[in-house]
Amino acid sequence: MTPTTSPATRLVALLGDPVSHSLSPSFQNAAFAAAGVDGVYVALRCSATDLPGALIGIGRAGGAGNITVPHKQLAARVVERKTSAVHRTDACNTYWLEDGELWGDNTDVVGFRRAAERLLGHALTSSRVLLLGAGGAARAVVCALVEDSAAEVVVVNRSADRAADLVRRFADATSRLRTAPDLATLSTESFDLIVNATSLGLRPDDPLPSDPDSTPRTAAVLDLVYSPVGTPWIRSFEARGIPAADGLDMLLFQGAASFERWWGCPAPLAAMRAALPPR
Ligand code: NAP
Repeated sequence: MTPTTSPATRLVALLGDPVSHSLSPSFQNAAFAAAGVDGVYVALRCSATDLPGALIGIGRAGGAGNITVPHKQLAARVVERKTSAVHRTDACNTYWLEDGELWGDNTDVVGFRRAAERLLGHALTSSRVLLLGAGGAARAVVCALVEDSAAEVVVVNRSADRAADLVRRFADATSRLRTAPDLATLSTESFDLIVNATSLGLRPDDPLPSDPDSTPRTAAVLDLVYSPVGTPWIRSFEARGIPAADGLDMLLFQGAASFERWWGCPAPLAAMRAALPPR
């Protein structure tokens, strides 16, 4: 869909590298049209050197936008006002100007929360969660789980030191977060939810993030990877009768939360969902 522009059209820009694969322009422009707001969403490839200038320049000119890999941490240092999600995760994926100041939020936190709640059919409170991965997305997952008082969160990551760093980052907020060296040590445990926050699944020759036959028992699995839609990992659990979702819902809900930051009105979720690839 080509948005109609006017002299008052607001620029909403995704800054990252790469950005050419992003689904955000199509579902955000569909949202702008459905909500009747005068904006256009574009994806701009941007180096780390250029990121501060682009972010401040677009924001000060009345624009807004998103930040994606690899600049979320850098953006958290550039914005002038941070939501608690940015403070806790040290990452920013959404920016906008408010009362003359450049604000940053990390809507991956609410995006994960709403996707997990939709899959589970209940809030994350009191849930036992196994988290695979300890990178930037994993921080957003842990932030939501800590805020929602999950009963226990166990982190398993290829690099043990990165998993330990993640646990240390949230140590003041909770004692219900721990690492495990591998899945074999958890074989007798059971979880309400297992989350894949590794990047495994993005490439066709990737191994599965975990072997479904030796993964601990779980009520549901959530893969943050959304390309390909319906990842091999979630399909292998669905084949065993376990409810599973890929990362499209998280993408949708983080985008909806960003929309609400920029425009101050509810996001048209149905129009946004219709602009995403079908499952
Ligand atoms: P990241 O910071 O680069 O972290 C990557 C994670 O994957 C690390 O834990 C890394 O382990 C692990 N990993 C990479 N290759 C591996 C391998 N061969 N074997 C085992 N583990 C491996 O990336 P990120 O920003 O957290 O993103 C992670 C995934 O989440 C990506 O697929 C991204 O697209 C997705 N994501 C989705 C959404 C959404 O809205 N659905 C939002 C954000 C991110 P090490 O620490 O050992 O390197």
